[in-house]
Amino acid sequence: MGMSAGYQLARRGVTTLLIDSFDPPHTQGSHHGESRLIRHAYSGDPAYIDLALRADALWKEAEEHSGTELLVRSGVLNLADSSVYSFSGRLAEAEKRKVRVEPLDAAEIRYRWPGLSIPDRFEAMYEPDAGYLYSEKCIGVYRQLALAHGAELLPNTAVQNVTARGGSVTVHTRNGDYHAAAAILSAGAWFGTLSPFITLPIKAVRKVVGWFQSTPDFNAGSFPGFTLGAGEGGYYGFPSIGGAGLKIGRHDTGLEWKPGDPLLPFGSEESDEGDLRRVLEAYMPGAAGRLLKGAVCKYEHTPDEDFIIDRHPVHANVLLAGGFSGHGFKFSSAVGEILADLATTGRTGQNIRPFSLARFDTPPGQAQAGLTLEGI
Ligand SMILES: Cc1cc2nc3c(=O)[nH]c(=O)nc-3n(C[C@H](O)[C@H](O)[C@H](O)COP(=O)(O)OP(=O)(O)OC[C@H]3O[C@@H](n4cnc5c(N)ncnc54)[C@H](O)[C@@H]3O)c2cc1C
Repeated sequence: MGMSAGYQLARRGVTTLLIDSFDPPHTQGSHHGESRLIRHAYSGDPAYIDLALRADALWKEAEEHSGTELLVRSGVLNLADSSVYSFSGRLAEAEKRKVRVEPLDAAEIRYRWPGLSIPDRFEAMYEPDAGYLYSEKCIGVYRQLALAHGAELLPNTAVQNVTARGGSVTVHTRNGDYHAAAAILSAGAWFGTLSPFITLPIKAVRKVVGWFQSTPDFNAGSFPGFTLGAGEGGYYGFPSIGGAGLKIGRHDTGLEWKPGDPLLPFGSEESDEGDLRRVLEAYMPGAAGRLLKGAVCKYEHTPDEDFIIDRHPVHANVLLAGGFSGHGFKFSSAVGEILADLATTGRTGQNIRPFSLARFDTPPGQAQAGLTLEGI
């Protein structure tokens, strides 16, 4: 989010300083592991579909400006056991917003993707224009473009504290203090370290993904990105790209992680591989081969899994972007544009009301029953 905002500010000619504890892209936050799904047919607030469509256009623009392939339109197949999840809401929203989607029954799914072994009670919503982004390349490209437009980057520099007074913001680091007319805070899993300047309802969790040896049925070019909702839980994944093996992760569950805690490597928990393999054996047996690689990453959940994109409640010149709850990457091109618009003009053309901090002032409604798959 930060690199995207930095690029958008620098290209507007704004003097921009980017500060990061590491050297992005890196493997400590939420963005590594090669790929992220980009889908457009969200349910819930229609703001998500609009944001996804704008983000898609901006990814294509970044590809043109950099000459680097960032987005692969592999299609995304959303699979679900109809006894735990229904696509009806998303299909209806997609139709309203002219997002192409195809409802499929089990026989059609098995016919089109012979590697899948799914029972008759499964159904799917296929999104032909969806696909995946090369996440580290996206950040690399925004970094290169931001610096080309004159932004400065301070890598390996942790922000220790932020203060704001009289229309100026000061960011304190062990290498010195930096003053600005405005600041954007997008601290991912580390927002807790910026308290008490800002305290957000964000809980970070450790997430794992694995790459499994798979048959050619699951190769990029013939197999799409996917999400899968079943009695076992909510999953998502990617075809085998360049022989790397089918990649799969679990969207629900995860051990809480707090800044300063060690991040246990893949395999520390028996369920790291077990949870993934169980689902592959059940529904994609040809992709349940040897574990080729595992990685550990972080989600930052808000209580309702909607994002936080807002101003600081006291300091209007400080913008906040966090709590992307495991589904933010696809939107980051558009989130950067929103943040830059807010920082420079005070306005944005996107509807960011669903992402306001004020929504946490009212008690949450009745928790939604069943499995939620919207947020992948
Ligand atoms: C396994 C996994 C799979 C995912 N799959 C998808 C998907 O398919 N599709 C999708 O859309 N999204 C997906 N996501 C979610 C998405 O990747 C995240 O929502 C997104 O990367 C969040 O971006 P961010 O900028 O908030 O966090 P990050 O990318 O973690 O960036 C935060 C940055 O802030 C820096 N920072 C933090 N604190 C400080 C400080 N005090 N001083 C200086 N720097 C600091 C960090 O070093 C870091 O570089 C997935 C996430 C994971 C973990």
